[in-house]
Amino acid sequence: MDAKQWQNQMPFLPLGTIYAASLLRKNNYKTSLFDVGLKESPQEIKPVLEKEKPQILVIYDDGFNYLTKMCLTNMREACFDMIALGKQQGCTVIISSSDATDHSKKYLEKGADYIIYGEGEETLLELVTCLSENKEGINKKQETRQLIRKREEIRDENPSILLPFREISGIIFKEKDSIHKTKPRKVLNTLDDLPLPAWDLVDVESYKLIWKNSKQEFALNLATTRGCPYHCNWCAKPIYGQRYNSHSPKRVVEMISYLSKTHQVNRFWMCDDIFGLKPNWVQEFRDLLQENSLNISYYIQSRADLLLKEDTIEALAKSGLEEVWIGAESGSQKILNAMDKGTTIAQIEESTKLLQSKGVKVAFFIQYGYLGETKEDINKTIALIKRLKPDNIGVSVSYPLPETPFYEKVKDQLSNKTNWRDSDDLALLFKGTFNQEYYRKLQRYTHKEFRKTQGLTYLKKGKIITNLRAIALLGYYIPSAFMDKISLSKMENLK
Ligand code: SF4
Repeated sequence: MDAKQWQNQMPFLPLGTIYAASLLRKNNYKTSLFDVGLKESPQEIKPVLEKEKPQILVIYDDGFNYLTKMCLTNMREACFDMIALGKQQGCTVIISSSDATDHSKKYLEKGADYIIYGEGEETLLELVTCLSENKEGINKKQETRQLIRKREEIRDENPSILLPFREISGIIFKEKDSIHKTKPRKVLNTLDDLPLPAWDLVDVESYKLIWKNSKQEFALNLATTRGCPYHCNWCAKPIYGQRYNSHSPKRVVEMISYLSKTHQVNRFWMCDDIFGLKPNWVQEFRDLLQENSLNISYYIQSRADLLLKEDTIEALAKSGLEEVWIGAESGSQKILNAMDKGTTIAQIEESTKLLQSKGVKVAFFIQYGYLGETKEDINKTIALIKRLKPDNIGVSVSYPLPETPFYEKVKDQLSNKTNWRDSDDLALLFKGTFNQEYYRKLQRYTHKEFRKTQGLTYLKKGKIITNLRAIALLGYYIPSAFMDKISLSKMENLK
């Protein structure tokens, strides 16, 4: 697990992985899960492989987890270790991850047999079917063959002919010395056709215990949608592209009902890039929750402009929304425009105030270091945080993700280091206005200003008893933020 995730002690289930496992199982493939998310070392898979002797080892990233988009090098190394262990056991090794898509050659050289790129479930099913039929030489997966034919429109009248690998969309593999990439797969637009994720393969109680031990209320992750149609120019969409597909509110309520009954969970992290974008989706979701007497709380990611549409905030609040993470990014309109973010500072202000007036917490994602960002823009971002008083913030620096317009702009400035080691690395990988140390300090300084503002607000509102700790910590944050500010001023001249 990522070091920062260990530290946060709020792990989420590998949702993407159990969607894929569920589809395999539905098609009668014996499927078991080794959940690396709770393991300290990839070596822990070794005794499992020795005991279970699987024919195929699938290393399948949870594509719903933002960490997997960042292509962190410690995750890559863990994957390489598992590829080696799988090959030692004679497994065919299949990888599905953003990093393997971007750096397929590296993974194939380490011994992976196939890389899945794009949306993975159906590709994996077709690949596993193809592998098992080729291996066993018998036609025992007639139904799957029909599914493949339907989806890919393979004009083959003879059902006894095995599907060649080259006709499976969305895979990369090596043949002799050359690498082959088959045509991209169309994304699924009927998400409700997928079976429910295989929650039973995960030790949910172990996850619950970690949250409980860190005194945090447990939340399970759900994905109600896939993809995002917006165009922020630093954001990568290696799996779904610009498409936005959604489960129906009915299906999501079915999942919630199941999880509430089987695991007594009533709090959810909706890990969609953008929650509830389709017109009337949120309103229908609210009504169905009420009809089914499901009293839940949940938190989401969204955009300031989207939240302001019609009665969205009202419906969200009524359906149990606890917190929204808004991609505020910057307090400078100039920077938002440069990012092609498509939102305005006025929308951030209005949506924040409206949410807070309905008792919904607001958190901001902040991003420093974008091209052209000056000291003045940075000051505007800090001023925005102090003015709107969000309940939480996440601060990062611009990260050049392959295949994005932003990456194209900075790729000539990249040094040997093109990935973060873990999610707490926060190195600026290109030449910014200031140097790396500056942005690391700026990140800490912003957190201190945020905590300082929060403590002072509690004090002003007389909310002392319930916020004793935050108020007591003012004794640390006020002088420390002051010292950081002086250091940052000195560092501005160093570059
Ligand atoms: S709205 Fe969010 S997910 Fe969509 S492009 Fe922008 S940053 Fe990416």
